[in-house]
Amino acid sequence: MYDNVNPFEEVKKQINIVREKADIDSTVADQLKHPRQIITVSIPIKMDNDDLKIFTGYRVQYNMWRGPYKGGIRYHPSVELDEVKALAAWMTFKTSVVDIPYGGAKGGIVCDPKTMSCTELERLTRRYTSMIMDVIGPFKDVPAPDVGTDSQTMAWIMDTYSSIKGYSIPEIVTGKPINLGGSQGREGATGLSVAICARIAANKIGLKLSGARVAVQGYGKVGYATAKSLNEMGCKIIALSDTKGCIVNQKGIDPQKAKEFKNKTGSIYGLEGCNKIPLNDLLEIDCDILVPAALENSITENNCDKIKAKIISEGANGPTTPKADETLFEKGVFVVPDVLANAGGVTVSYFEWVQNLNRDRWSLAEVNKRLEERMINSFEEVHAFSEQMNASMRTAAYVLALKRLEEAHLKLGLFP
Ligand code: NAD
Repeated sequence: MYDNVNPFEEVKKQINIVREKADIDSTVADQLKHPRQIITVSIPIKMDNDDLKIFTGYRVQYNMWRGPYKGGIRYHPSVELDEVKALAAWMTFKTSVVDIPYGGAKGGIVCDPKTMSCTELERLTRRYTSMIMDVIGPFKDVPAPDVGTDSQTMAWIMDTYSSIKGYSIPEIVTGKPINLGGSQGREGATGLSVAICARIAANKIGLKLSGARVAVQGYGKVGYATAKSLNEMGCKIIALSDTKGCIVNQKGIDPQKAKEFKNKTGSIYGLEGCNKIPLNDLLEIDCDILVPAALENSITENNCDKIKAKIISEGANGPTTPKADETLFEKGVFVVPDVLANAGGVTVSYFEWVQNLNRDRWSLAEVNKRLEERMINSFEEVHAFSEQMNASMRTAAYVLALKRLEEAHLKLGLFP
């Protein structure tokens, strides 16, 4: 988190903005400012040197009006409860924007996976799963990967959950390895949806995609898949960053070579043929499309004036504060918000869950066709709202999400 912005406070501000603009029922808006349930666990594990270490883990189940809780699990040293609450709220809005039958949740463990061995991570994951066992389930709450976790983490969760229940339950998590019931296309789905949204936005503002210059902040799972997809669409990747630094090459960076270099050395910093520039300069670089794909609050009041990109397609969750979003809208930058742009991940997670429940397998072509259709429809719905209301795509996406949540809640009623 930069600039000490509390992301959960930003979520509540965003709900207030939308509530006024779209006349959302106050009882609905008030409930959406509170997570339904928070589970905090202290996870004791034996480290490889035989020391006992206790980690703090969270699962925040935000809302289930539209379906079971759904959301990733983050392993990162800076995980804190308000961050997990914000991420869980965004999941609730995201599943509503792309109209999939899920609610929203998120989990996290305060740890540094980069400094832990594979066996330590396995013990941590299994113990955490056993401690949240009662509140998750294929029809209750379905976890997925996020920052610092991957398909291996999901395999451990699936195995722990299945072992305790006594039968194989692949539908307990999404983002699994393919031969354990993972979906074709899940790994690249978030990046693909970020790229599809950038492509549609380019079309709306008359920007030619072929040769369009792209800068990607955060070269992890989402950053790589976005760069790869945009490159395949004809764009030129001119800048990349990760925690070690930022690299620039105006002639274009090959996303595959950058990934292989990162796999070998731990970072993209130092890739042959590229210049090194200070980390945060990436956001201000002269480019056509900017993709923030690292963590929250990268684009704030302090740097949004310096952004030169014409389009921002948000891979990360919460990379732009509401205030910065307003300024970018006034400046005419086309921002595709996280709850729309990166929704490809949860969309294909939903496809994975449907395949698992039906013991079925879809081809990559089938998955990508369904993803493409859903992203185009959702983008157009949000865009139509934004034109109607003369509001940013973010405000429009929140209006669409909150309207759907409002409708669901008013029909369900309040128990008791
Ligand atoms: P990841 O751990 O694979 O990658 C994160 C990358 O960001 C790493 O390469 C890290 O070095 C880099 N990074 C961190 N801080 C940085 C900084 N200050 N400057 C530059 N780089 C920095 O995680 P991921 O799964 O790619 O997730 C990235 C973002 O996308 C997160 O906000 C996550 O919540 C969001 N997201 C992920 C998915 C998914 O399917 N994995 C889906 C939707 C949204």
